[in-house]
Amino acid sequence: MDCIFCKIVNGEIPSYTLYEDDTVKCFLDVNPNTNGHMLIIPKKHYTALKDIDLDVLTHIMKTAKLMEEKIMNKLNPEGLRLVQNNGFIQEVKHYHLHLIPVYKTEQKLLDVKEVYEKLK
Ligand code: AMP
Ligand code: ZN
Repeated sequence: MDCIFCKIVNGEIPSYTLYEDDTVKCFLDVNPNTNGHMLIIPKKHYTALKDIDLDVLTHIMKTAKLMEEKIMNKLNPEGLRLVQNNGFIQEVKHYHLHLIPVYKTEQKLLDVKEVYEKLK
């Protein structure tokens, strides 16, 4: 299947990976809204919320809690937004949960590699 996130899972496309296990992978978004914007994806291809296995979804949320701790400790944002798009607003048709740090004062967008160095 010609899916960009499946290609990230199988290593055909590189990513700034912060966490992975048998079920999920978490990596930095290449076009971040804010510093630390990351995505958690299932390794198996599911398109959207209506398709995804419930146990896998639970595992994604557990991973979100894990990554929240890391984001809060290393980047100190005042807020954290979780977003998951479905339907026509979903650009990449492989399920993904966005974790988007929110800062009270506007932050200059850093290079993704620089953010990776802070978070890894
Ligand atoms: P969505 O509208 O929820 O489907 O958002 C897709 C997200 O995937 C966007 O924020 C993109 O910047 C991000 N994205 C697309 N290609 C890549 C990639 N190769 N590595 C990391 N993030 C990506
Ligand atoms: Zn896929």
